Amino acid sequence: MKPPTGCRRGRFAPSPTGSLHLGNARTALVGGLRARATGDSFVLRTEDLDSVRAVPDAISGNLNELRWLGLDWDEGPDVGGPHAPYVQSERHEHYLRALDYLELRELTFHCWLSRKDLRELASAPHTPPAAYGTAERQLNEQLQAAREASGKQPGIRLKAAEAAAGRTYSFTDVIQGVRRLDPVATSGDIILKRADGMWAYQLAVVVDDILMGIREVVRGADLLPSTGAQLLLYDILEQPPPTYLHVGLL
Ligand code: GLU
Repeated sequence: MKPPTGCRRGRFAPSPTGSLHLGNARTALVGGLRARATGDSFVLRTEDLDSVRAVPDAISGNLNELRWLGLDWDEGPDVGGPHAPYVQSERHEHYLRALDYLELRELTFHCWLSRKDLRELASAPHTPPAAYGTAERQLNEQLQAAREASGKQPGIRLKAAEAAAGRTYSFTDVIQGVRRLDPVATSGDIILKRADGMWAYQLAVVVDDILMGIREVVRGADLLPSTGAQLLLYDILEQPPPTYLHVGLL
């Protein structure tokens, strides 16, 4: 039986860090075909917040590569649409509104730690950074006064444990099956806005998927661990999460 229209409005959200690779092309193709199979629209969104990793010309390059592959989209940076702009660096006010809401609910705090502080706290420097938790909060408190006095800008983080209040999230991924994720253990106090003013991935992706009405997220399985933190954000922003489909990496 064919699922009803409206349940698979999808998107492909490349970061313009260079040419698309085969895995990106497959993700875009799966997302586009899934959305079109139910008569839903497919959105292209450029996730260019990480200006350090962004490569000049990769935005238009990525669009050209996708078109060359024969893919098309109903809304996007080049074709516009009702939820424009479709480029994250132009969506500041939407992220700010979500952050204001979380601040109002006292679910955020200022983080004065640098990447170096965080690296030094992690016991194994070559493993992915551990979740920001108790040790990081303690060091943050110790350093706060001095860092503030030196005129440094803080990043803004989510008080994950307070926000989750013991909740974990289980969901059925279309490919990976039933998963239960604990956002506090996996991601901890996620960064929402960096000290340099840049919006962070988790907040931006959730806010955009909510505002763009995305109902099915198709992306690489490397992002599966992030899904717990994102489900927590949907929860505290009081919005229904999309369905997820994490395709294995090529
Ligand atoms: N922009 C991310 C990437 O290119 C994808 C984010 C997502 O699909 O949630 O890896």
